[in-house]
Amino acid sequence: MDEALKLRLIEAMTAALVAHAEELTALDQAIGDGDHGLNMKRGFEAVLAEAGAIAAKPLPEALKVIGTTLVMKVGGASGPLYGTLFMSLGKELPPEPTAADLAKALGAAIEAVKARGKSETGQKTMLDVLAPVQAALAQGGDDLRERLPRIADEAAAATAPLKAIRGRASFLGERSIGHIDPGARSSALLIGTICDVLGA
Ligand code: ADP
Ligand code: MG
Repeated sequence: MDEALKLRLIEAMTAALVAHAEELTALDQAIGDGDHGLNMKRGFEAVLAEAGAIAAKPLPEALKVIGTTLVMKVGGASGPLYGTLFMSLGKELPPEPTAADLAKALGAAIEAVKARGKSETGQKTMLDVLAPVQAALAQGGDDLRERLPRIADEAAAATAPLKAIRGRASFLGERSIGHIDPGARSSALLIGTICDVLGA
């Protein structure tokens, strides 16, 4: 993984979240407090501000810096959770990961998010996107770069009929039903973007 690729990943993830900030905010307005778009935009703009230094590091260290930056800058519930995700990916991944390494590391990172959020899949959160993506990665196959974004998008859409059990949306109980979870959507955006950049 060369420096230029890491830089492109950071730029593309930030651009995707900036482009979709209003959409994420609208989703969070429906079942939360309407800050998810701004939270993610602020967090990744802070990562982008350090992109040169981050990209110069080996992948594990780069991921750890991204994680700590997100914890500090995103705020809300999603900051510590996305921070945990990136930090534990940094802890688990070798500098030049294979798809199998990625599957294993994402599995461990999801467990870390669950521990941090006291949450499980099926509770209408980002985990409902991350888990099926991890499962597909673990299964393998050679068209993963096309399949994973689709799996992530469908999984995000499939959070709509769920009732929120964790996070702010859970305060709404039954009224959380019928809306896509904002964190599930931001996870799908990140996964789609990463696959695009790695496939290009
Ligand atoms: P806040 O809810 O504090 O305003 P954000 O709006 O930035 O934070 O993020 C909300 C998203 O965080 C939710 O849509 C959900 O996907 C995710 N989330 C919240 N709580 C949890 C949790 N306990 N476990 C996993 N994900 C969670
Ligand atoms: Mg919010």
